[in-house]
Amino acid sequence: MTNILQYDLPELTELLVSWGEPRFRVKQVWDWLYEKRVTQFDDMTNLPQNLRDHLNEEMTIGSLEQVVEQSSEDGTTKRLYKLDDGQLIESVLMPYDDHRRTACISSQAGCAMGCVFCATGQMGFARNLTSTEIFEQAYRFAQLLAEDGERLSNVVLMGMGEPFHNYDAVMEAIHRLINDLGIGARHITVSTVGLVPQIRRFADEGLQVSLAISLHKATDAERTPLMPINKRWNIMELMDACHEYVAKTNRRVTFEWAAIAGENDTPEEAQKLGRLLQGLNCHVNIIPLNPTGGYAGRPADPEAINNFIDILEQYSVSATVRVRRGIDIDAGCGQLKSKVIAPGDIA
Ligand code: SAH
Ligand code: SF4
Repeated sequence: MTNILQYDLPELTELLVSWGEPRFRVKQVWDWLYEKRVTQFDDMTNLPQNLRDHLNEEMTIGSLEQVVEQSSEDGTTKRLYKLDDGQLIESVLMPYDDHRRTACISSQAGCAMGCVFCATGQMGFARNLTSTEIFEQAYRFAQLLAEDGERLSNVVLMGMGEPFHNYDAVMEAIHRLINDLGIGARHITVSTVGLVPQIRRFADEGLQVSLAISLHKATDAERTPLMPINKRWNIMELMDACHEYVAKTNRRVTFEWAAIAGENDTPEEAQKLGRLLQGLNCHVNIIPLNPTGGYAGRPADPEAINNFIDILEQYSVSATVRVRRGIDIDAGCGQLKSKVIAPGDIA
């Protein structure tokens, strides 16, 4: 069986024409897939039965096998998918009050970057996802939302894996999110641990896609033990690339700060960060740490975080705290997989 989602419009046209179908059928199939977002070929009611049969014989709509789905009290939905080769990945759908519907998707099975606080980093690297595997995670949530007449509005590449370590597949998936699924480029965010050459390359793509950088510490001596990538590209090199990105794209860059009690939530830390970011067109997103099995850190308290934000303001650096979503369903990156794998290994 072939996953029909792997085809772009020219490829789907070539396929259906090779089956002897007239061209207007291509447009019909495409609309069922990308406008109406149906889950089965039998729902494509204006196609002749023989074409539906042919599609059913040879094609599937998607190839990700859903293994677990959990829903949180705050409306967050988290899914664990099994890939063709048995690897497991996670995606999360987060509804916000203002009608945003945001999918958080994975770019790799596991991750090679080894950040010590991260559940995915603690697993190690298995493999890169294909562009279709990346794209399909967003598509599947778009299908789910279509059942209620809703549309997926935002996509963040903040699930498992380092997107810039799988650069080409991620860029291809992003183009399809924009062109085929109709997600506005400004509503897509790529988050990176800080791979400097790829940040520079990304700045040259000419896309309006947002960039987030996982910083978490403001000095090399403190960042390296948490995030080993800092040995390869230190904070100065990272900041140079960020300045270049902002200058080239005229876009603001976001820094992510996983707030860890006593580690990076103190007034001194806020001052170091304020000095580092002063004058750069940026925003700091503070996310209280999600505790993971392999790391002893605890989330910072709201009071420390508010104080931290006030200090950054003195440096004219804007910062907000991001609400932790799906806390009751292990919605932190890599956490569902670690929980599912540990007791009975379903892979
Ligand atoms: N690999 C990319 C994107 C995936 S991680 C990156 O690191 O940027 C998405 C975000 O979640 C990153 O900012 C990452 O540092 C953060 N993160 C990972 N583990 C976390 C945890 N246990 N608590 C809070 N944030 C975490
Ligand atoms: Fe990989 Fe990002 Fe986790 Fe670091 S935080 S290990 S880069 S997924």
